[in-house]
Parts: sequence; C-alpha cells; structure tokens
Amino acid sequence: MSSEIPMIAEHQVQLAGSGKSFDVGPGETILAAARRAGLALPYSCLSGSCGSCKGRLVNGEVAYPYNPPSALTEAERAQGQVLLCQAVATGDLTIAIREVEAVAGIPIRQLAVKVAAKHRLCDDVMELKLLPARREGFNYLPGQYLDILLPEGKRRAFSIANAPHHGDTLDLHIRRVSGGGFTQFVFDELRLGQVLRIEAPLGTFVPREGGDRPILLMAGGTGFAPIKAIVEHLIDRHTHRALHVYWGARHVEDLYLESLCRQWQDNHSNVRYTPVLSEASPLERNQYRSGPVHEAVLKDFPDLSRFDVYMSGPPPMIEAGRRDFVAAGLPDDRLYYDSFDYAPDVLAALIRARSAAPG
Ligand SMILES: Cc1cc2nc3c(=O)[nH]c(=O)nc-3n(C[C@H](O)[C@H](O)[C@H](O)COP(=O)(O)OP(=O)(O)OC[C@H]3O[C@@H](n4cnc5c(N)ncnc54)[C@H](O)[C@@H]3O)c2cc1C
Repeated sequence: MSSEIPMIAEHQVQLAGSGKSFDVGPGETILAAARRAGLALPYSCLSGSCGSCKGRLVNGEVAYPYNPPSALTEAERAQGQVLLCQAVATGDLTIAIREVEAVAGIPIRQLAVKVAAKHRLCDDVMELKLLPARREGFNYLPGQYLDILLPEGKRRAFSIANAPHHGDTLDLHIRRVSGGGFTQFVFDELRLGQVLRIEAPLGTFVPREGGDRPILLMAGGTGFAPIKAIVEHLIDRHTHRALHVYWGARHVEDLYLESLCRQWQDNHSNVRYTPVLSEASPLERNQYRSGPVHEAVLKDFPDLSRFDVYMSGPPPMIEAGRRDFVAAGLPDDRLYYDSFDYAPDVLAALIRARSAAPG
C-alpha cells in the first residue's frame, strides 16, 4: 500500500497548442503541477525573478501568493503574461507556453554522490567532481543543473560543467558566496570521499538542436559551467554552426579555464572565443576587451536577429541580456538562459526583508 497522500485536484490547466492538460492542487504553482504531471515547461530560478517560465494566459486567472512576479513588467502583465513558477490558478486555465521536448523523457532522481576530487580553479571558484554511487539509468543533457539536498529541505543549485560522457563524474564550478552557508562549507570543510545527496537532472537550459543559425554563448563568472558543457556537446556532435563564446569576468585570473577556450578556438574553425573583463586594470586593458560582457556582444553584433543565444551567470547580466538582446532584434523564443539566483527560500527571505524595510 502506498503511503503517499494523493494530490487533490482543484483546477485544470490546458496548454494551448498541444492541448495537453494537467491538474493543479490547492496552493500549488502551475509549474510545480506541470512538473508533477511529467510535462517539461521551461524554468530556471524558481523564485519569480528570472522570467524563464514566462507564459501567456489565454483563459482564466492566476494569483501570486508567494513571491511577486518581479521578472514581469507592468506592460507584460497587462498583456496577459504570467510567471508559472509563482502563479497559482484561481480557476480552470489555458496557457500558451512552449514545452522543452528534449528534457521531457529524462527521469529526475535523488542519488548519493561521493566527492571524488576538489580543487581550486581560482581564488573564489572550487571545482568538485562528484561520483554517483550508481550511474545506471542516470542521464542528463548538457546545460542542466543539479540540486544539492541539505538538511531541513533546503537545496542549492549548481550547473553540471561537463557534457554527458565526458568522464564518470558530475563536475561543478562553485563560486564562494560571502555569507553563503553551503558554498563556504564547500571551501572550508567538505572532504574528499564525503557523500552528498543530489537531485538531478534539472532545468531546461539545453541546446535546441536543428537549424543552422550561428550560436552565441555568453557566460558570466561560473556561468561558464553549463556553457562549457554545451560547447563540449556541440563539438562532440561535429556541429558546423558558428559558435561565438563570450566569457565575462572581473579580472584575467577569474577566467579560470581560458586555456580550454583557446584550445576550442585553435582546434575548431567554427569556434570564436572572446573574453571580456568588467574591472580590467590598465595592464589588462592592453590585452583584453573591457566592460560588461553583454555590451561587447552588442558591439560585435548590433543585429542579433539571425542568432540563437544561450546565456548563464549572475542575475544582473541575465536581465541586461534579456532587455538589450531582444531590443537588438533577437526573437525572445531564441533566447535561452539560466540565471544564477540564490535558492528560492533565500530569495523569499530577502524579498520579505526588503518589503519590511522602511521607506
Ligand atoms: C539554475 C541555477 C544554476 C546555478 N549554477 C551555479 C553554478 O554552476 N556555480 C555557481 O557558483 N553558482 C550557481 N548557482 C548559484 C548558486 O545556487 C548559489 O550561489 C548558491 O545557492 C549559494 O548557496 P549558499 O548556501 O552558499 O548561500 P546562501 O546561504 O543561500 O546565501 C546566499 C546569500 O544570501 C544571504 N542570506 C542567506 N539567508 C538569508 C536570510 N534569511 N536573510 C538575509 N540574507 C540571507 C547570505 O548571507 C548570502 O549572501 C546556480 C543557481 C541556479 C538557480
């Protein structure tokens, strides 16, 4: 006999286009219900701030009892756009959003992993190589992430930095966050051989195959991790598509795998690598482009209409890319991203603290 309590269906949601439908329970977000039903809708931060899970309400109404949908502008809300990671149905609904077919059939698992290697890539980035206790049946796509499962139901998201079949381990690039519980633990206490629990694979930041448009991949800091996995995969597949890789960091030492990027460029005529330093010293400025990485992209490609764009990294970079790349002619359904936000429980606490602050 199963001990699971069945979810009581409160409303029904239908996807315009495919006509697929699923039930939502009381207080359940539309995205959570869709994931429970095995549908692969796009998402990333799960806290209402990145906009990956944006859809259009065709019929019905939603409420936002959790975080406010801060990734939506007033104009977008007025046009009927909704953020599915926060929206709760107040009746039956129809929404328009594109499924990410590639991830639909891949099972999500909780599994134990052993820390097989730990080494510093630069001052504030640690590489971890995690060896799953049992690899059978575990599969993922390049660009996906995993959640580290912590006590009290907390979780922390990290992108998998190696393409599938590039080694037996799941490799992570972890930036130390000042005051951050888990990342400080990784730097100061985590030991080789220690066992962690993860849930994986997660996310929909995966390459969309087909087409011959040039691909622009923009990373900020450790946002390089999923971009690396995607580039490795595309190279493995002998793609003929042009790959323009931009990597933004503060200083040259933060470009912690530059030699790999230069190897890609030297060995593959379709790959071009452009590093950009946001806080370049006068000396660094002699050798490197300087300024925000998305501005360097726009300087090189003022018209982005013929590109597919993948970007990952800090939320301000993602926000700038969403705003300025679409303004430069990139259709927003060819812009894919993972925004490296803090965990939903932490963002919720920060939002509560901000709204309680005077003035
Ligand atoms: C899809 C995705 C993929 C990601 N991939 C990567 C990756 O590959 N590499 C990478 O480096 N990062 C990645 N990140 C970001 C990473 O998940 C965060 O940096 C990580 O969750 C920080 O965890 P932490 O426990 O160290 O910090 P937390 O303990 O979560 O703290 C974060 C910050 O919030 C403050 N804080 C915490 N709790 C509170 C509170 N209650 N009130 C006020 N302030 C508080 C802390 O002081 C700290 O400054 C990714 C994020 C997402 C969403």
